[in-house]
Amino acid sequence: MRDEKYNPFNELCLTIDKAAKACGLGKEDYEFLKHPERELKVALSLRRDDGSVSYYDGYRVQHSSLCGPCKGGIRYHPGVNVDEVKALAGWMTFKCAVVNIPYGGGKGGVAVDPSELSEAELERLTRAYAAAISPIIGPQRDIPAPDVGTNAQIMNWFMDTCSTLAGGSFVPGAVTGKDVILGGSLGRKEATGRGVRTVVGEIFKRYGIKPKEAVVAIQGTGNVGGVSAALIAAELGSTVSAMSDVSGGVYREKGLDVKEILSFVNGGGLLKDYSREGVQHVTNDELLTSECDVLIPAALENQITAENAKDVKARFVVEAANGPTTVEADVILGERGIKVFPDILANAGGVVVSYFEWVQNNMNYYWSKEEVNGKMREIMVRAFADVVHAADKYSSDMRTAAYIVALARLVKARKARGFF
Ligand code: GLU
Repeated sequence: MRDEKYNPFNELCLTIDKAAKACGLGKEDYEFLKHPERELKVALSLRRDDGSVSYYDGYRVQHSSLCGPCKGGIRYHPGVNVDEVKALAGWMTFKCAVVNIPYGGGKGGVAVDPSELSEAELERLTRAYAAAISPIIGPQRDIPAPDVGTNAQIMNWFMDTCSTLAGGSFVPGAVTGKDVILGGSLGRKEATGRGVRTVVGEIFKRYGIKPKEAVVAIQGTGNVGGVSAALIAAELGSTVSAMSDVSGGVYREKGLDVKEILSFVNGGGLLKDYSREGVQHVTNDELLTSECDVLIPAALENQITAENAKDVKARFVVEAANGPTTVEADVILGERGIKVFPDILANAGGVVVSYFEWVQNNMNYYWSKEEVNGKMREIMVRAFADVVHAADKYSSDMRTAAYIVALARLVKARKARGFF
């Protein structure tokens, strides 16, 4: 689904313009947000297990450190490029501002397919990448975390490399999403999915929908899509009608057995090989346009496009992925009365618990899972209310409203700091 013309950073700039116009900001107030503070590109060489050497491009973009250290994940995916990383970094600035946590935005990535590397190769590549970007990383400067294609083990290696380069000081606060044994937070692994579940629950309340009568289709079965599906089925009791992985999707009008599908996928199975009575195999497009109340894209950007937006049947789209809906598609969905709850709100649970992890690392004092989940819920519910309030006040769609909430904070901080 990656096309040549699609430039996610341009999409972000268009979204910022739209929101700034809606709330009456002048160009000079927010223009700085279209200029990432720092872009680092590094060349990584990896000694393969067979003795040969492979080369990869790595990036770290710091979009803004206006409201705190830059914060954002590291993506390992063959499609990673500078415009994608710039957009992802910018989205982090707006995400942290909309949930009002004291961070700026950053993002990193390596153009690599991690499934083609052995465990030892993955460790060497991660250490090479961590060392290459280490001059601009640090607990008060820029704090990476997991994203598509990376996980707690990769964060552990990243942290170990930063600690070694710091002459052996233990610097757990240099990265979040680590294993609990190394200062990771309880609840971090499930945090993004739990945040998505919280937003879906708030939508049901606001629009008077009985959760048990709602049908939800989810694109993805990874850490975000999988956890969202599990919690929406188990805690809200909604029907999950569709799920997918890289090999394709599965659909059952009356509902899928989410638990069984997740243990199948997590055990290494591909959904194209999953067969059960009444379960149909569907393409990505068929999943996105299937009959449901809530559609949750939880994979990559550029999924709901001008081509398929006219066929989306959901009443609500909840963006668990970053940037799944193009600007053109957003307009089409809006005209069709479909409400889109944007990524910067819907998937913010991950970075909120990353923030808690960093706070715990800095204090060297750790919280219970209940405390983490409770505090995250509070922040997500308040952010949801702020966005809905702005949408009412400015008669706008939810994405514009979320950007308005974030812009108000960012512009205020810019004015307070002044220009150097
Ligand atoms: N990669 C996640 C995101 O896009 C989490 C970032 C973080 O925890 O810093 O929000």
